[in-house]
This record gives sequence, C-alpha cells and structure tokens, in this order.
Amino acid sequence: MELAKKAHQGQVRGTGEQYIEHPLRVALKLSQLGLDVDSVVAALLHDVVEDTPVNLEQIKKMFGQNVAKLVDGVTKLGQIRLKRSWFGFRILKQKEKPRLESQLETFRKLILATAKNIQVLIIKLYDRLDNMNTIEGMTQDKRTYFAQETLDLYAPLAYRLGIGEVKGELEDLAFQQIMPEQFASLKIKVKDAFQKRRADVKKNKHKILVLLAQQQIRVIDIHGRTKHWYSLWRKLKRLDGDLNKIYDLIALRVIVPTVADCYKTLQAIHSRWSAVEGRIKDYIAQPKKNGYQSLHTTILGPSNRRFEVQIRTPHMHDQAEFGVAAHWHYDQHKLIKDKIKPITSQHSQWLERLATWRQKIKDQNQLATALNFEIYSDRVFVFTPKGDIRDLPSGATPIDFAYTIHTSIGDATIAAKVNRKMVKLDHKLQNGDTVEIIFNPKHGQPHYKWLGFVKTALARSRIRRALRLRTRLGSVVRRFRPKRTA
Ligand code: MN
Repeated sequence: MELAKKAHQGQVRGTGEQYIEHPLRVALKLSQLGLDVDSVVAALLHDVVEDTPVNLEQIKKMFGQNVAKLVDGVTKLGQIRLKRSWFGFRILKQKEKPRLESQLETFRKLILATAKNIQVLIIKLYDRLDNMNTIEGMTQDKRTYFAQETLDLYAPLAYRLGIGEVKGELEDLAFQQIMPEQFASLKIKVKDAFQKRRADVKKNKHKILVLLAQQQIRVIDIHGRTKHWYSLWRKLKRLDGDLNKIYDLIALRVIVPTVADCYKTLQAIHSRWSAVEGRIKDYIAQPKKNGYQSLHTTILGPSNRRFEVQIRTPHMHDQAEFGVAAHWHYDQHKLIKDKIKPITSQHSQWLERLATWRQKIKDQNQLATALNFEIYSDRVFVFTPKGDIRDLPSGATPIDFAYTIHTSIGDATIAAKVNRKMVKLDHKLQNGDTVEIIFNPKHGQPHYKWLGFVKTALARSRIRRALRLRTRLGSVVRRFRPKRTA
C-alpha cells in the first residue's frame, strides 16, 4: 500500500482524483470477491511498473515472486491494444465482418496467452471496469476508442469467464460511449414498458412467494432482474424493435436452496400459470458453455402478460455473477467453515468432504478446458505492420508469417524485420512482435533450406510446390529432393 501510494504520488487522473484511488478501488473489489492476498496486492500495484519508476525487481524483493508475476502479466496485457486503423473496418462492407470477428477472436486468444493465469485476467477485467466507470476523464476521441476495445475484447472475455456482472456493466458503459444517440432513444422507448413490468414483477413476486410457501419450498431470495441496456438493444434489433416480444425486460429471479428445490419450484409455477411453449430452458441439466446454470421459463403471469422467471441455487447465482472469481469466494468460505467446525471422525462428514474435493477438482479441470490457457501456450501471436494479428505455432519464423499473408509474398521473401530490426529468416517469433516482410517478386524465391526451419504445414507445402515447379521447369535446381523434416 505504501509503495503504491509513494509510487503514484503526485499523479492525477483525468477525472481530477489522485491516481491511487484507482488501484485502491480495484484492490478493494477483488478483496470483496474473496480473491487471494497476492492478487489483491498485485491489483494495488498493477499500474506501478507501467507508470512509475518502480520496477518488477523491487516488487519481487518486497512482495515475492508471485506478486511480481501477476503485476508483470497485467502490465503486458496493458500493451495489447487494438490499432486505431481498425475503426475504418467497422464502416466496411458486410462481407468484411467475418474477417473482423476472426481477427478479434485472435486478439482475445493473445490476451489469454499473455495473461497465462486466471488471476491476471480477473485483475485486468476489474481494472478495465473501473477505467470505464471513470471514463469522463478522457478526451472524446480516446473514450470512443477505449469503449470500442472494451466491447470487442474485454466484455467477451468476461462472458467467457462467466463473470456476468462485469460483462453486463462493461457493455453498458461502452454502449453509452459508442452509440450515445441509440442509447438515449432506447431509454425513451422502453420507459413506459419498464414501468408496467416493474408493477408486474411486484405483483408476481408476491403471488409466487405465497405459492411456494404453500408448497413448503424455502425461498432464499426473490428479486427482479433488469435486463442490461446493451443486450436489450441487441435483442430488440433482432426482433425488429418489437418490445412486446421481450419477456425478460425485468425477469423474476427465484433463489432456492437446492437443485431439487429448483425443479419443484418450476413445477409449482407451471401448475399455477401456463407456460409459454418453447420457452422452458433447463440450463441446469445443460449448462451454457461458460458454465451458466439456471432454469428459465416464460409464463402467462397473473397480470396476463408474459414474463420470464429464472430459478437457481445460491451457488449457481454466485457463479453467474462472479464466474471463475466465485471459486475463490467458495474456497475462502470453506476455509472459514472448516476452521469453525469441530473436526469429528464422523464417517458422513468425511464422505461429504471427499465429495466436495472431487467437485472442486472437476470444476477446476472444466475451468482450464473452458479457458484454454494451455492450448494457447504453444501458439505465438504476431502483428502485421498494419496491426492485423496472426496466430502461428510457437517457434514460427518470418517465412511462416509471410505465407499466411499470401503465397506470392512467401515465395518472394528476401528479408524480414521484427519490431523494425532486420532479422534472419529463421528467427523465432515472439508474442506481440510486429513482423514486416521484405519481398521481391523478381529475385526472391524459396530456398530448400527453408524447409529445415519452417513450422507451419502451409509454409512447408508452398515451399515444396515452388521447388517442384522450378525443377520441372528445369531451371536453377535440378533433380532436387527436399530433405525430410519431421
Ligand atoms: Mn489501471
């Protein structure tokens, strides 16, 4: 804390507040979520290396290897920026869209590959959320850029981590910046509908509570969930602006103790009000890809209007709001509980604990698969001079890169620059490198030696083809046989 304060001393943010307020808020949020101490310390120091004279060595000495590693990861993520030239893209024709989306997806992979670790990503997401909340401090131009990047990269990552709370907020904040007019007119458009639905929810809430009490189902919490602006706007666009087709403007969320209670609740509600066909979704039996679980149904409610009910356990609720971050939350709670609970040798208790452990291990495996950190660790992500991104296997060289641009460029490569410095053609590319290919269609031609170091099948097959063609034409290489490579 002292180090962060000293390091940021005198720095003032665009909003006029002392800089330290920002890392403090991020750290506080993470500690509320129950993240480990190292992550909270790293959150406090996350801008120190980037913006102040303090370096990683000092952090390592004072707070240990792990904190330094986390700070380093967040600093590196800060360097991944979408190029400004990308804005031109959005105005481009419809057919460019798939290309844009695949480029963005590659950027997201680069973020995962760079973060290497889940805590780094969580710190970065809450950092971004705080920056979006204090965005008035930026110039208009920077705001739009920052908001677009948030919408393109960080909100989808928050979704993938299952942190619904952050995803929804990031999107809404970005939406207001990027499309202020649409945001304003949406607000006007739904004003009346919101009022009606709010009244509905109030009535329905009461009736459902009574019903569940009759059925002796305990309700932990019941509340209205208002749909986020951005997701509402997108849904409306899909439905040609027809507000009447949106049943979850405000959904009613019912939280009950167990999974069995969830199904009982669903049944009770259906026995009383009629369910709208095709709107019952069992995300408990079939969770969404990001792990989201709940039962959803749309009923013809007491006020004769369709509205959505979402049923879940407290565990599912935390997962939906805090995603992977909820894991720490649970670990912490479990720790406290374990400490308080006297250790008895009761068989059942032991079994229960074993089951919890199993579940935990399973969850963590699922987590790793969902995020694919490992998959990306053997990839390397590099940029073209224009800021496009390319995804290559690690160990890839400028030749591999050249062939991803175009065969004719690969074939004609004579030299390469990485981060503006000349390198050999067998140079191994690193994450984040900017690669420039110098080529000459007249004089450049593939060399059989290239086969010894290229990493992609694409480059290998193109080189072989070019060599074969030349042999057949009877020019420079005669009776050449390419060396076998693994
Ligand atoms: Mn920051």
